[in-house]
Parts: sequence; structure tokens; C-alpha cells
Amino acid sequence: MNEIETFYDLSTLHTFRLPAKAENILFLTQQEQLTEIPADAYVIGGGSNTIFLNDFKKPLVCVRITGIEIVEADDHWNVKVGAGENWHELVLCLNDKGINGLENLALIPGTVGAAPVQNIGAYGREVAEFITNVTAWDRRQHKVVNFKPIDCKFGYRDSIFKQNPMRWVILKVEFSMPKAWQPELSYGELKALDSPVLPTDILNKVIAIRSAKLPDPAITPNAGSFFKNPIIARAHFAELLQHFPTIPHFDTPNGDIKIAAGWLIDNLNLKGFAIGGAAVHTKQALVLVNSGNAIGKDVLELARHIQALVFKNYGIKLEAEVRLLDEKGLVSL
Ligand SMILES: Cc1cc2nc3c(=O)[nH]c(=O)nc-3n(C[C@H](O)[C@H](O)[C@H](O)COP(=O)(O)OP(=O)(O)OC[C@H]3O[C@@H](n4cnc5c(N)ncnc54)[C@H](O)[C@@H]3O)c2cc1C
Repeated sequence: MNEIETFYDLSTLHTFRLPAKAENILFLTQQEQLTEIPADAYVIGGGSNTIFLNDFKKPLVCVRITGIEIVEADDHWNVKVGAGENWHELVLCLNDKGINGLENLALIPGTVGAAPVQNIGAYGREVAEFITNVTAWDRRQHKVVNFKPIDCKFGYRDSIFKQNPMRWVILKVEFSMPKAWQPELSYGELKALDSPVLPTDILNKVIAIRSAKLPDPAITPNAGSFFKNPIIARAHFAELLQHFPTIPHFDTPNGDIKIAAGWLIDNLNLKGFAIGGAAVHTKQALVLVNSGNAIGKDVLELARHIQALVFKNYGIKLEAEVRLLDEKGLVSL
């Protein structure tokens, strides 16, 4: 029953693949193990948004609960998925069954259980649009609890789970996939798709764009977008526009402006810039990569260097989108 292992090689459990070990790791495969979760354990899924900068001294829980259940209703499908299922495999499985809606979110690495944590999003869609329930183990109350969407406090790459990283272990996520499918084509190269557009056209296009633009973590270790796209006040944006008239930006519902962090970094000619074995990807400036021999110190120094340059040039403080962990837990930049 107790599957705790010691000195586990963490380079295989996070996609940035820094050399690090865990002293104590529990692979959670069934609900019966919930009471075995140590109070101070940190939770991971696929490790694609997490970087272990050093050996990790606290206990780790790696969620591996599987299972996909699909129930058809009149106008939608209810899809209940174990937190340890692979996200992209779920997107492919549903597309294969003619259940559509998640195609814009194809090829995002990681697990289904992590998807609500930062409300994964891409190409104009966010996972929150389809989530109807999140089942989690509450480590404070020692019981299984359910979250309706409103309780999840979803925001841009944000949720109640992200705000309280030590409180809940997500066990299952439920989605409602409407039968009346609406394509989402407002972003970038999807606009160019010829109509009528089928879900599979979007799926294939998203896979093609992402494969061309983003480094495959299996070949070039990385953790996707390292920084969040910053949201700034309209007055600050107006000032920036005078110096940088081509700055890519998006309006947000409350009137603030979201800026493309990758552009800010690229405009400082940082593509390919490296400190030790950590580098800014040569094609996508928002992604930092491990060129083979990076250590945690290289990643921190590179991230802080970028952050300082961006602040000096644009007055914007970049925040990390990835979770950085040292021996004791989360580290902020
Ligand atoms: C090449 C690449 C491209 C990417 N593209 C995108 C993108 O387009 N959009 C996007 O939003 N993200 C993107 N990401 C980031 C990443 O894929 C997502 O954040 C994904 O949801 C992380 O899943 P994971 O299982 O690997 O999470 P992990 O890195 O293991 O964990 C991430 C966070 O979730 C928490 N967590 C994980 N599982 C659970 C659980 N069961 N219960 C409670 N908390 C949990 C962890 O504590 C941690 O805080 C990309 C990453 C890479 C490497």
C-alpha cells in the first residue's frame, strides 16, 4: 500500500530536467492512500510547470490517479477524468470520439489534475470554460471536497488551487462538453483556417503551430512559458507605446492591457542569451531551456537578469509562470 520511495531522481519527474533528487516521494494512484499524504508534502503531476532547482528535502506527492468516464446527456457530454491522466491524450481521446471543444488546448504538456491549477489556456480558450466540478482532498479538513466553477476562482493562469498550493490535492476534474460546438478562431494563425472549419482542422493546426514554435521538452528540456504575460494600467501602456509603437497587446475585461512578455524579452535581443546551461530559447523568447548541463543557480540567475532588464527598459515587473522549488519549497524571483 505505502509506495514511498527514497532518493528518487527528479530529473525524470520535471520537464526542465535539472539534476535533483527527492528524499521522499509518494505516487498517489488511489484514494485509499490519501491519509498517507504527509502534511508538508508538495504536489506534482507531470512536472511541466515546475522546476526543481536543487535536491528537494520535503516530501513529494506525485498524482497518478487514472480513469476517464463519459456520460452522454441531451445537449452535452459529462466527462469525468482522473487527475493523473495526461492532458494531451485526453484532448486526442475526446476528439476521436467526436467530443469537441478542447482542440485549442492540444499539446499542452502535463496532467488533467494540474489543468485547473493555473487554468491552462492557449489560442483563445481556457480550460475553465468547460470545468463543472473539481474533486480534491482537503489536507486541512482531512476530507474529500467538491468545487463548483465559481469556487475555483479562475483567473488568467490563476485559481484558488494556485493561490493555496499546500491545501488541496486534486483527484478528479469534470468537464461539460457542449454538443453545439463553436470554433474559437480569434487567435493568430487559426484566423487563416478556411471555412467550414472542423474540430480536427483546429486540432491539427494547433499541433502543427506548437510543434514548429515551441521546443519539445523530450528533446530540449523546458517548462513552457517561463513568465506570465504582464497586465499593466492603460496609462502605463500609453507611455510605452510612444517608445515602442509595435508592442503586441490585448485588452482585458477591466480595461487594463495585457502585454506579450515574449516580445518584451525578444526586443532586448535576448534570444539565445545564456547563463551557464540555462538559455533563452532561440525561437521563442518566453521559453527558457536547459541546454544540457544547467543547474538551478543558472536558471535563477538568468530569470533574474531578464526580470531586471525588462524592469529597467519598460518599468514592468515580470512574474514567473513556472513554479520554482528549492530544498524547502517555493521560491519567488
Ligand atoms: C512546452 C510547454 C508548453 C506549454 N504550454 C502551455 C500553454 O500553452 N498554456 C498553459 O496554460 N500552460 C502551458 N504549459 C505549462 C504546463 O504544461 C501546464 O501548466 C500544465 O497544466 C502543467 O501540468 P503538470 O501536470 O506538468 O503540472 P506540474 O508542473 O506537475 O504542477 C504544476 C502546479 O500544479 C500543482 N498540481 C499539479 N497536480 C496537482 C494536483 N493533482 N492537485 C493539486 N495541485 C496540483 C503543482 O503543485 C504545481 O503548483 C506548457 C509547458 C511546456 C513544457
